[in-house]
Amino acid sequence: MSDTRTGLGVDSHRLVEGRPLILGGIEFESEVGLDGHSDADVLTHAVIDALLGAAGLGDIGAHFPDTDERWAGADSIELLSKVAGMLIGGGFEIVNIDATVIIEQPKIGPQRAAICERIAGALGIEASRVNVKATTAEQIGSFGRGEGAAGIAVATLRG
Ligand code: MG
Repeated sequence: MSDTRTGLGVDSHRLVEGRPLILGGIEFESEVGLDGHSDADVLTHAVIDALLGAAGLGDIGAHFPDTDERWAGADSIELLSKVAGMLIGGGFEIVNIDATVIIEQPKIGPQRAAICERIAGALGIEASRVNVKATTAEQIGSFGRGEGAAGIAVATLRG
């Protein structure tokens, strides 16, 4: 019998000068970028954790530890592809992904479709099964001051 499983993913990284800003595998024009061991793509990291959570496979840190040099500067979309492989190998089908990025600027809207295509491509599913939203923190707190960005995602699997 196949059943439906849901997972949640949350991630945040600091925004600093001298780093590229990559969200959902798409690079944005920005004076600051996300800091981290990999490319620090908060949106893709949240999607990875949502998928791993739905499958009961732990979290991103367990599979791609930030103490491991193999993942230094890693392209998070490649990590997402690896996770998709694990899920498919485990007999799961990815039903859909819904994700939100919280960032004060730049505007994500113009690249929204490109992000959905990129994430869906890495997962081997149709772009219509990936929904990406963006919101600002309305100048509240550290995200509102542009000190960082966050990603939140929910994934649904069948398997
Ligand atoms: Mg992360």
